[in-house]
Amino acid sequence: SKWVYSFGGGNSDGRAEMRNLLGGKGANLAEMASIGLPVPPGFTITTEVCTHYTQNGGYPEGLEAQVQQALAAVEQDLDMRFGAVETPLLVSVRSGARVSMPGMMDTVLNLGLNDETVEGLARKSGDARFAYDSYRRFIQMFGDVVLGVDHGHFEEILELAKEDKGVELDTDLTAEDWKSVIEQYKARVKEETGEAFPQDPQDQLWKAVAAVFGSWSNQRARTYRRLHNIPEEWGTAVNVQAMVFGNMGEDCATGVAFTRDPSTGENAFYGEYLVNAQGEDVVAGIRTPQNLTVEGKQKNGSDLPAMEEVMPEVFGQLCKVRDRLEAHYTEMQDIEFTVQSGTLYMLQTRTGKRTAAAALKIATEMVEEGLIGEAEAVRRVDPAALDQLLHPTLDPSAERKVIAKGLPASPGAASGQVVFSADRAEALGQEGRRVILCRVETSPEDIHGMHAAQGILTTRGGMTSHAAVVARGMGRPCVAGAGELRIDYQTGKMRVRDIEISEGDVVTLDGATGEVMQGEVATIQPELTGDFAKLMAWADRIRSMKVRTNAETPADCRTAVKFGCEGIGLCRTEHMFFDAERIVAVREMILADTVEARRKALARILPMQRQDFVEIFKIMSGLPVTVRLLDPPLHEFLPHGEAEMQEVAAAAGAPLEQVRQRSAQLEENNPMLGHRGCRLGITYPEIYEMQARAIFEAAVEVQRETGGTVEPEVMIPLVATQRELEILKSLVDETAQAVFAESGQTVAYLVGTMIELPRAALCADEIAADAEFFSFGTNDLTQTVFGLSRDDAGSFLPAYEAQGIVKQDPFITLDPKGVGQLVSIATEKGRSVRRDIKLGICGEHGGDPASIRFCQSVGLDYVSCSPYRVPIARLAAAQAAL
Ligand code: ADP
Ligand code: MG
Ligand code: MG
Repeated sequence: SKWVYSFGGGNSDGRAEMRNLLGGKGANLAEMASIGLPVPPGFTITTEVCTHYTQNGGYPEGLEAQVQQALAAVEQDLDMRFGAVETPLLVSVRSGARVSMPGMMDTVLNLGLNDETVEGLARKSGDARFAYDSYRRFIQMFGDVVLGVDHGHFEEILELAKEDKGVELDTDLTAEDWKSVIEQYKARVKEETGEAFPQDPQDQLWKAVAAVFGSWSNQRARTYRRLHNIPEEWGTAVNVQAMVFGNMGEDCATGVAFTRDPSTGENAFYGEYLVNAQGEDVVAGIRTPQNLTVEGKQKNGSDLPAMEEVMPEVFGQLCKVRDRLEAHYTEMQDIEFTVQSGTLYMLQTRTGKRTAAAALKIATEMVEEGLIGEAEAVRRVDPAALDQLLHPTLDPSAERKVIAKGLPASPGAASGQVVFSADRAEALGQEGRRVILCRVETSPEDIHGMHAAQGILTTRGGMTSHAAVVARGMGRPCVAGAGELRIDYQTGKMRVRDIEISEGDVVTLDGATGEVMQGEVATIQPELTGDFAKLMAWADRIRSMKVRTNAETPADCRTAVKFGCEGIGLCRTEHMFFDAERIVAVREMILADTVEARRKALARILPMQRQDFVEIFKIMSGLPVTVRLLDPPLHEFLPHGEAEMQEVAAAAGAPLEQVRQRSAQLEENNPMLGHRGCRLGITYPEIYEMQARAIFEAAVEVQRETGGTVEPEVMIPLVATQRELEILKSLVDETAQAVFAESGQTVAYLVGTMIELPRAALCADEIAADAEFFSFGTNDLTQTVFGLSRDDAGSFLPAYEAQGIVKQDPFITLDPKGVGQLVSIATEKGRSVRRDIKLGICGEHGGDPASIRFCQSVGLDYVSCSPYRVPIARLAAAQAAL
C-alpha cells in the first residue's frame, strides 16, 4: 500500500480533503502545490504509518523504499543530492496531525548537514556564516527534539559565545564564531548522550522521523488532546520537505500571517516577519518581529519598517498569494512563509484561529464579498464562542489606572488576582477564584493554567506568540508583550516603574486595547447590532425551532428579550417565594395546621405573586409564558438553625415547638424523590389554586391595561401518572373559569406538564389526553434515568468521564441513547394522541449546541435556555436545521 505522498513541482499526490491521512499540514502543502503556489518540494509519510509505529514500534513493509523514491524525486526536481557534499539537499522534518496542535509537535530544520556538507553549503551559497549558522541550528534542534538534550545546554553555550564576543544578537556572530559554537555543541551532545552527533544524513532522517512519531505520545501532546477531545488513534503525519532559507542575508526573511485580522476580523492582511531569520524565530521572541504592512505597523505603534516598505516586490507576491488562498479556500488562512534571496516560498496554510468577534465579522463580510452564502456563514460561527461577545466589556467611562500596555492579543475584559505560574492558576481556579496568569511568555506546559485563568498577560512575544494564539483559541482575553513589566518569579512580584504588584493583587486586562490596569474596572453590556444582528437574522431565517428562555426575574426577562427570545419556556415560581417580605407569609402557610389557616396565609401571598406575573407578562408582551407551579419540597422554605426558627415562630405568632415539629415532619430522606412537584398540588391544592389565580388575574389585568394578548401556559411539574394531571388540570381550569367570570374577560391559555420522570415519558400517550403541551425537564429526567443525583455526581462523574464510561457530563450534553430515547418515545406517544401537542425542552440542555441538535432531530417545537444562552441557542438551532 501507499505510505508516502509527494508534493511540489506543480503537482501533488495529495489534496486538501485528505487531511485524515496526510494531516492538516501535509494535505494543505499538497493543495497549495497543486494550485501552483510556490511550495518547496517534499513528501508526506501518512498518519497510518504513525498508527502502525505506535502499535508495533516499527515501520510497515515498503515504507523505506517509498521514502527513498520520494526523496529521489525531490533531488531530481532541485538537482541536489541528500548527503552530497557539493550540492547538498537539506530537508525539514515536520509533524502534522489532522487538526493543528500549536506547539505540540516539534520540527527539525536543516537536516542533512554534517561536518562535510556544511562546507559544501558554504561554498555553494558563498556565505560561510549562513552555512555554519544553519548547522548549529540543526544540531540544536535535532539535539533537543530527537536526542533529548535539554535546549538549555545549547542556550548556555550560545550566551557565553556572545558574551565572549561582546555582542547581543545572534546575527552578530561570524562563521568562525559559529564553528566554535558547533564544536562545543557537539561536545556537549557527546557528554549528554554518550554518543557522537550523527553524521550520516540517512541516519539523521530516520531518527527524526521516529522522533516525530514518538512525539505523538508525549505528555504535552496528550494534555492538548485531552483538553480538545482529540482521539489518540488519529496519529500524526510526517512531512519531509526541501529546505529554503530565510537566513541567507538581507534579502531573505521568514514570517507568519493571517489573511485577515484574527482579533477583529477586519479584511486587512495581518502578520509579522523577520529579515535574515529562520523558522520560528518570529514566534520565539528572540528578536522583535516587524509588521507586514504599514497599516499594521501604525496600529501596533511599531517603529520598525514594514515588509511592504523593505521588500515591496516580494510583499506584492505575498498579497497575490493571500488573494489566491482566500478565493480557493473561501476561508481566512493562517500562513507561514519564507523568502530566500528575494523569492517567496509558502510553507504552510491552514484555517486561521480567530476570536468570536472576528469569526462573526469574517463570516458576514465574506457573504457580502460573495465568497460564501448565508447558510455557510451561519455554519461557520461556533455558537459556544458567541458567549465571548455576550459578556460585558470594560466601561469606557470608568476610571482606569493603566500601569502598562502590551499588544491587544485576544479581546475581552478580565479582572482577577495575579498569579505567576500555571499550577497556581489551576489551584486557585479550582477554588473558584478569578485569576490573571502573568508570565514572561507561555509555552505548551502552561495550557492548564491558561484554561483556569480569566485572562493572560505576557511581557514578551508578539501577536502570533504562543500566548496570543492559544488565548484567542480559548476565548480568553490576552495582553501579550507588555515589555515595561518585569516579572520576578523568585519573589512572586511584578514591577513597572515604582509600582509593585504581588501575587494575589487584582489587575484588569483589556484584550482589545492591550492595557493592563491596577484593580478592578467597571464593565458594560455588549452591543448586539451590526455583524451580530446580521448573522442572527440569517440564523433566524434558517432555523425551525423556536428559542425561549428560562427566567423569572424582570431583569432576566428583559435580558432574554434583548437577546431575541421568543417566550418563556420555564418560569420557576419558587424563586418568587424567597423574597424577604414574602417568606414570612410562605412559612406561615407551611406551618399552618388547617386548610383555613393555610388559605389565609396564601391570600397574603396572592397579590405579590400576581404582581410578579403582571410584570413578566408586560415585558414578554404577547409572547408565550410557561409558568411552572410550585416544585420544591416545602421543607426548603423552612429555617434550619434554632435562632431562625425562633424568629419565624415570633413572626408567625406560633410556639417554637410547633415550628420545630413541623420542620421535623417535613424533613425527608431523599427530597429529590420526595414530597414535591405535583405531589404538593395533590396534597395542598390550595397552593396551586392560589398560583393559578395569580396567573389568570395578572393575565386579565395586563390584557385590559395594554390591549394586547397574554399567552399563559400553566405547567404542572413532576407528573408520573395520567390521573395526577387530570386532577390538577381541572383545578387550574376551574380557577381560570372563576377568574374569567369575576372579571368578565377571558384569556387563551394552555395547561400542560413537564416530562421529567421515566414513567411519564413511557405513558406519554395517556398523559397527553390532558396535556396541551409537554416540556422536557431534562435535568430531572437525566437524574431519574441514570438514577444519579446531580448534586452528588461531582465525586465520581469525572472518573466516569476519564474512563470513557460517559462521553460527556450528561447534565451538560443530553445523553441521546437513554434520556434521548425517552424524549423520542414521549414525543411520538404524545403526538399520536394529540397531533398538535406543543413540545419543548426546558432543562439546562436547551442551551447546549449538541443537545439542541438532538432536539431538532426529534422535532421539538422549541428549546428554552438561560437568557445569556439565547443567541447561542438561536445559532445552534439554525446549524441543526442546516
Ligand atoms: P509548527 O507546526 O510548530 O508550526 P512547522 O512544521 O510549521 O512547525 O515548522 C515551523 C517553521 O519552520 C515553519 O513555520 C517554517 O518557518 C520553518 N520551516 C519548516 N519547514 C521548512 C522548510 N522546508 N524550509 C524553510 N523553513 C521551514
Ligand atoms: Mg512549533
Ligand atoms: Mg507551522
